[in-house]
Amino acid sequence: MIKDLLSGLTSVDPTDYRHLYDTSTEDGVVPGGGVHVTFLGVSTLLLADDENTIMTDGFFSRPGLLRARFGRLTTNRARVAGALARIGLTDLDALFVAHSHVDHALDAAEVAGRTGASLHGSTSTRRIAEAQNFDPTRFRPIETGQPVQVGRFTVTAIPAQHSPGDLAPGHIEHPVSSSPRLTDLKTGDCYSFHVAHPDGALLIHASANFLPGVLTPFPVDTVYLGIGALGHQTEEFRDAYWREVVEATGARRVVPIHWDNFTRALTRPVRTLPRRFDDFETSVRHLERRCAETGVLLVLPQVWQRTNPFA
Ligand SMILES: [Zn+2]
Repeated sequence: MIKDLLSGLTSVDPTDYRHLYDTSTEDGVVPGGGVHVTFLGVSTLLLADDENTIMTDGFFSRPGLLRARFGRLTTNRARVAGALARIGLTDLDALFVAHSHVDHALDAAEVAGRTGASLHGSTSTRRIAEAQNFDPTRFRPIETGQPVQVGRFTVTAIPAQHSPGDLAPGHIEHPVSSSPRLTDLKTGDCYSFHVAHPDGALLIHASANFLPGVLTPFPVDTVYLGIGALGHQTEEFRDAYWREVVEATGARRVVPIHWDNFTRALTRPVRTLPRRFDDFETSVRHLERRCAETGVLLVLPQVWQRTNPFA
């Protein structure tokens, strides 16, 4: 019993997968002021060109496992400030939240508040922001299928489905505490984000699940593919996921996200989600096989590293 419990908490050191590391830039430089993307854990991604900067989720607090599961959740301002300082981010144009769980939405209001960004999310995300006294005039309710223009970035939210085994399903229907519990932060509406730019198009698909057919009208070069808990699904599910997200969009590059253990601070070496919650090796083996069969490039992002999504 104890042995099972402990082995469930072990995880994979991603440096074992360094053969998959993203080598699209040298020292993070993208020539010609082109789009660059920085992975910041879970599905927090920073996208920028030489004029504008957008982000998804903006989750940096990463409370420890026991606190996350049983305690009260508050934004860790020092961690948010530390992460923003490390990437040199003072001004952000827009922040888009994929759904309202802790590992996506907890810090969105803090990040948008500090950086002057507009905050785009569901009604549930709005409730979380309200509890944190976010300026309501900077909140933008997401309307799926309606493109939002941020400089040369065109961001379109597409309806999405949370991965199976949702711990806090439903919507946040009532005002929420400023220090909520995990289960208070209900999913709300889930989105994938299609980002088009003159340099290329990409999809940020945070949750490892799909709504059949919805991504077909949104071709992209690159998919940021959420693989959280994908390793615990069936092989049939993984095949369908590949078809509905990677094949449907015609992506030629797949970048797995939402695989890191988000109960560890980003200042510590990154580990995968513990085996009790996911099976990283199985997901990556599946993706490696599919990519080899189809000629799609698979790259594992490293936290903090600036990459070229269209290299
Ligand atoms: Zn979630």
